[in-house]
Amino acid sequence: MGEVDTLPAQGAGLDDALAARLRAVLGPSGLVESPADMAPYCTGFGAAFSGRAAVVARPASTAQAAEVVRLCAEARVPMVPQGGNTGLAGGAQPDASGRTVIISLGRMRRVRAVDAANDTITVEAGLTLAEVQAQAEQMGRLFPLSLASEGSCQIGGNLATNAGGTQVLRYGNMRGLVLGLEVVLPDGRVWEGLRGLRKDSAGYDMKQVFIGSEGTLGLITAAVLRLFPRPRAVETAMAALPDVAASLALLALARERLGEGLSAFELMRAPSLDYAVQALPGQSSPFAQAHPWYLLMEASGQGGGDALRAALEGVLEAAFEAGLVRDAVIADSQEQRRRLWALREGQAEAQKIAGEGVKHDVSVPVSAIPAFIAEADAALERAFPGIRPFAFGHVGDGNIHYNPLAPRHWAPGEMTARRAEINRVVHDIVMAHGGSISAEHGLGQMRVEEAAHYKSATELDLMRTLKAALDPHGLMNPGKVLAAPMG
Ligand SMILES: Cc1cc2nc3c(=O)[nH]c(=O)nc-3n(C[C@H](O)[C@H](O)[C@H](O)COP(=O)(O)OP(=O)(O)OC[C@H]3O[C@@H](n4cnc5c(N)ncnc54)[C@H](O)[C@@H]3O)c2cc1C
Repeated sequence: MGEVDTLPAQGAGLDDALAARLRAVLGPSGLVESPADMAPYCTGFGAAFSGRAAVVARPASTAQAAEVVRLCAEARVPMVPQGGNTGLAGGAQPDASGRTVIISLGRMRRVRAVDAANDTITVEAGLTLAEVQAQAEQMGRLFPLSLASEGSCQIGGNLATNAGGTQVLRYGNMRGLVLGLEVVLPDGRVWEGLRGLRKDSAGYDMKQVFIGSEGTLGLITAAVLRLFPRPRAVETAMAALPDVAASLALLALARERLGEGLSAFELMRAPSLDYAVQALPGQSSPFAQAHPWYLLMEASGQGGGDALRAALEGVLEAAFEAGLVRDAVIADSQEQRRRLWALREGQAEAQKIAGEGVKHDVSVPVSAIPAFIAEADAALERAFPGIRPFAFGHVGDGNIHYNPLAPRHWAPGEMTARRAEINRVVHDIVMAHGGSISAEHGLGQMRVEEAAHYKSATELDLMRTLKAALDPHGLMNPGKVLAAPMG
């Protein structure tokens, strides 16, 4: 198991009797057994993490999923839940042992119920986020979670990672968008918690235990999701800024003038935007000149488009006068809006052509963003002269993807080899500002050691207690979130 290595997806160790039982439960199309067919499940996005599996189980119903988990638990076989396999922290890949059963939710794709009056939709975990958005649209509603990976990531994966994205500023992250869950527990029992309630004080809120648990406490099979009115008007602008502090002043101004209507506020550093322009075919910068920082801002509302556009123009005019903005464009058409968003959503492609980097998914209080960036830039330059900046993120949520690139004189592989040192410099500064080492991607296997370093003994003890209570044999996604027990 590990970053960069790509292992053959070889099935090594499944007892014949268990394999036969799984085949009987899942039918011929439900169990993937050949190494070639298993390969895509064993390697994560960008081939950053890879492992080996014994088989890939693809249940088509909760009953099948529960039976698969029960059989694996009985045989003490480790399991890795997997959704769209777009996670960036190595949470959905097995280890190198070849003993693991990957449980892929991709065949659980039913919409179980729609309740327009309750503004909810009940879906199975294997629907992609884009499919759920489309279902909501058919109902005349909005499901607001929005990520660049939405065509592939699944609702189960979004729940398991407590996904964020570009609309958190207005609608909150996945934790706030779900009312009920159905979960297969690590012993195969099913917790039926598909309640569509906005108020429920009857004891512990069990769904919150599973949201963000990255498949280590159970397999999410279905969810009741909250829906919202579809905005009638959307206006999108991109502004060029002199420095990162200006983005906070602009955020305050935009909030004051647009209130709840401010729905996205995304920051990009100059090199990140330049690389996106290079990486995306047919793209160009919306500005004639280069600037140090760029901000993508979106407002949406139920009123007329003219009023919304006037309000956004008012924000930008006030920002010009205050010296917060050097240049700005407002999209005049859907195509222009799409092109502005492509620059932001193409940051993963931009990163690929920019060169070797170390990714950080950090959050700090919004007020601390300028200090965090200034201190991290200076500390990295002191420790690794020539290291190159690359950063973008959801600045309205305090979440920056701070992903420095290798100095040009470093040999290939050196940046990756020095990842732990670089992490320590960045994460120490994040923690000094009261921040988090993962805002939205999760710990997976990538940040397990960092979490063990920074979390208090009491918090780690609480986490281990919860894990042991639900999964006493440590079979559900071992080695993720918490280090696997020794022996
Ligand atoms: C280009 C790009 C942009 C991205 N942008 C964002 C962003 O803006 N915001 C953001 O939050 N993330 C982002 N991501 C990361 C990723 O898309 C999200 O973490 C997403 O929620 C993962 O969903 P998935 O279905 O692909 O999960 P997977 O990658 O399959 O799994 C992720 C984790 O969830 C667990 N899991 C998956 N399904 C289940 C289930 N049904 N039950 C229990 N556990 C399960 C897995 O074991 C693993 O630990 C981005 C990724 C890419 C490639």
